[in-house]
Amino acid sequence: MGKPTGFLEYPRQLPLALDPLERVHHWQEFHGHADEESLRQQGARCMDCGVPFCHTGTLLAGMASGCPINNLIPEWNDLVYRGLWREAYERLALTNNFPEFTGRVCPAPCEGSCVLGMTEPPVTIKSIECAIIDHAFEQGWIVPNPPARRTGKRVAVIGSGPAGLACADQLNKAGHHVTVFERADRIGGLLMYGIPNMKLDKRYVQRRVDLMAAEGVHFVTHCEVGKDWPVDKLRREFDAIVLCCGATRPNDFFTKTPGRELKGIHFAMEFLHANTKSLLDSRHQDGNYISAKDKDVVVIGGGDTGTDCVGTALRHGCRSILQLEIVPKPPLTRAPDNPWPQWPRVYRLDYGQEEAAARFGDDPRRYAIQTTRFEGDEQGHIKAIHTARVEWVRDNGRPVPRIIPGTEEVFPTQLVLLALGFSGPEPTLLDQLGVQRDERTNAKAAYGRFATNVPGVFAAGDVRRGQSLVVWAINEGRGAARECDRFLMGRTDLP
Ligand SMILES: Cc1cc2nc3c(=O)[nH]c(=O)nc-3n(C[C@H](O)[C@H](O)[C@H](O)COP(=O)(O)OP(=O)(O)OC[C@H]3O[C@@H](n4cnc5c(N)ncnc54)[C@H](O)[C@@H]3O)c2cc1C
Ligand code: SF4
Repeated sequence: MGKPTGFLEYPRQLPLALDPLERVHHWQEFHGHADEESLRQQGARCMDCGVPFCHTGTLLAGMASGCPINNLIPEWNDLVYRGLWREAYERLALTNNFPEFTGRVCPAPCEGSCVLGMTEPPVTIKSIECAIIDHAFEQGWIVPNPPARRTGKRVAVIGSGPAGLACADQLNKAGHHVTVFERADRIGGLLMYGIPNMKLDKRYVQRRVDLMAAEGVHFVTHCEVGKDWPVDKLRREFDAIVLCCGATRPNDFFTKTPGRELKGIHFAMEFLHANTKSLLDSRHQDGNYISAKDKDVVVIGGGDTGTDCVGTALRHGCRSILQLEIVPKPPLTRAPDNPWPQWPRVYRLDYGQEEAAARFGDDPRRYAIQTTRFEGDEQGHIKAIHTARVEWVRDNGRPVPRIIPGTEEVFPTQLVLLALGFSGPEPTLLDQLGVQRDERTNAKAAYGRFATNVPGVFAAGDVRRGQSLVVWAINEGRGAARECDRFLMGRTDLP
C-alpha cells in the first residue's frame, strides 16, 4: 500500500488553511486542498502496515477507534498515490454515502488509530478523503443514478440529518419509494443548522440533497411528524418507518442556578440555528439572529458545539470571548491509561480556539471552572457570571467536581451560550408511536438490528445512540436501511 518508504521520505502535511485573522471576517470554508503532488506524497505515507486499524471502527474505552463506516482507507491512499482518482472515488463510495461531509467535519478517529501514528504523525486520511470526493464532483463523475426497478414499497424517514439522508439513499438504491420528512425549512439536520457554514458550506449539503431528489427521493420540509402529519396517517400510507429525528433536547445543568432566567442566556443551538438561517436567507440582512457584536461572550461547555459558538461569535465581532469547561485541561500527549489505538484524549486547538487566540492573544478556554451564579442588571439582562475553580474527587467511586474555596471570580458578560450537550430525543413522536426507550431516554433498538419494539418502525443515529458524530449517524442510517429492506423484502443485498 502506498510507497513502502513513503513514511520515511515525507512528513505529514495538511493543506494550508486561511489565516485565522482573515477568515473571521467571512463565513466561507477556510480549508483548501493541497496540490496533486502533495496529495500523492501524503497517500504514499500509508505504509503496508499489515493490520490497518484505521478502518476497524470498534469502540475502545467508549470512543471510536478507527473509521466507524469502515472506509477502505489503505486502498484509496494507494490509489491516490498512483494517481488513480476515479478508482479511489469508487472505493470510497462503497462505504460512505457522503464523504464531502465527513471529509470536512469528521474528527477522524481513523487517524487516532493509524499504525504510523505510533511513532510518527499519522497519515492525513481525512483531507485525502475530502480531496477524492471534491475531485470526483469537479470531474463530473457523480451524476444522478436512479434505481433500475422500483419495489412498490413505501418508506417514511423522519428527520433529514446524516442518519436520515444515508438511510434514504440506501433504501432508494434498493428500489423503495422513500419520503424524508423534516420539520425545518431546509433539509440536512445538524449538517444544515448545527455545524456552521465555515466548517461545512451549505452548498455542499444542498448539492447532495438535489442529487438524491434527482434519483427519486421525495423530501417534505416544514412538516413535523406527529403534529403536522398525524402518526396514524403515516402508518396507513407507509410500509415501514425509520426514525432519524436526532437527540435535540438540550441539557440545562443550571435550572437551579440563581439568575438562569436572565435575558441574554441562550442554548447554543438557538444561537447557531438562527445564525445559519439568517445567513442563508438574507446574508444576515433580516437581523433574525442573536448577535454577539461588541459583546463580552461567555460560552459554557466545550466540544464541537462550544467551538462553533466561539467561531460564530468571533465572526459577529464580539468584544471578548471566554469558554468555560468544568473538566480539567487534557494532557498534551496520551496519558498512560489512553494508549494507541484508542482515540487520543489530548489537548487540541480547534479552529474556533485558534481564531480566538489569534484575535485576543490566548486560547479562550478556562478549565476546571464551575458557574455558581448569573448576575443581571435592572432590566433583567445578564451582566456578569460568577465562577469558582473545582477539583475532581471520588464520591462512591464516581468522579465529582468540588469547589475550591477562595477561587471565586466574576466575569462581565452580555451574552452567555450554553453548550452543555443534549439529554436525548424529544418525546412527542416516540410516545405517539409507542416506541420504548432505553435508560438514557433514547429510542430502544439494538445496534445492528435497529428495530424498535413497534413492528416496522426502526431507529438510527442520535435518536438511538444519543448525540454523537456525523460518521456514526451515517453508519446507523446505512444499517437501519439494510434491516428495513430485510423487513420489507424478506432478504437484503444492502451492506
Ligand atoms: C453544533 C453542533 C456541531 C457539531 N459538529 C460536529 C462535527 O464537527 N463533526 C461531527 O462528526 N459531528 C458533529 N456534531 C454531531 C452531529 O452533527 C450529529 O451527531 C449528527 O448530525 C446526528 O445525525 P442525525 O441524523 O441522527 O440527527 P440530526 O442531524 O440531529 O437530524 C435530525 C433531524 O430530525 C428533525 N426532526 C426531529 N423530529 C422531527 C419530527 N417529528 N418530524 C420531522 N423532522 C423531525 C430535526 O429537525 C433534525 O433536522 C455536531 C453537533 C452539534 C449540535
Ligand atoms: S469518515 Fe471519519 S473516520 Fe472514516 S475515514 Fe473519513 S475522516 Fe476517517
